[in-house]
Amino acid sequence: MPESVSTCQSCGMPLAASGDRGTEADGGPSPYYCRHCYRDGAFTEPGATIEAMAERGGAMMSGMFAIPPDRARGFTLQQLRPLLRWSGRLIPGCGSCGMPIVDLTEAGTEADGGPSPYYCIHCFRDGAFVDPDLTRERMIEQYAPLLARELGMPLDRAKAMVRAFTATLPRWA
Ligand SMILES: [Zn+2]
Ligand SMILES: [Zn+2]
Repeated sequence: MPESVSTCQSCGMPLAASGDRGTEADGGPSPYYCRHCYRDGAFTEPGATIEAMAERGGAMMSGMFAIPPDRARGFTLQQLRPLLRWSGRLIPGCGSCGMPIVDLTEAGTEADGGPSPYYCIHCFRDGAFVDPDLTRERMIEQYAPLLARELGMPLDRAKAMVRAFTATLPRWA
């Protein structure tokens, strides 16, 4: 039984409701992909490229969050790269901050010193959260100004974007 993920590993869309998931050849839900990308056990656009996907996703982000199109496309490309369809492997995202945990040096640590399967090293060490009092609201307050500057977008749109993104993370769900 493959581990199920919470964002589509092709387009990055959150897989919140079970109806968001694509279908396998046997009709069951796909553990990895959304219904736009994957149906009946196959990609709906088998020839899609990461650049085309970033183009489309970037245009959507640009419209939704008032980000200049170039930066929205670049940012989307960066978000797509670690996904299974484009990287060729399932890279877990931190359940607290969403950072892709590319290798074990970036994984948090459990109380016994072993790697955490859920959180990154910045969020979780020795079996506990590095900042146990962190709230979703504080994360939004801290991260939105950085994002607004990086992407050249209005602060209120950056807050909405961080709010939407944190809703997909298990720590804040
Ligand atoms: Zn998708
Ligand atoms: Zn983290």
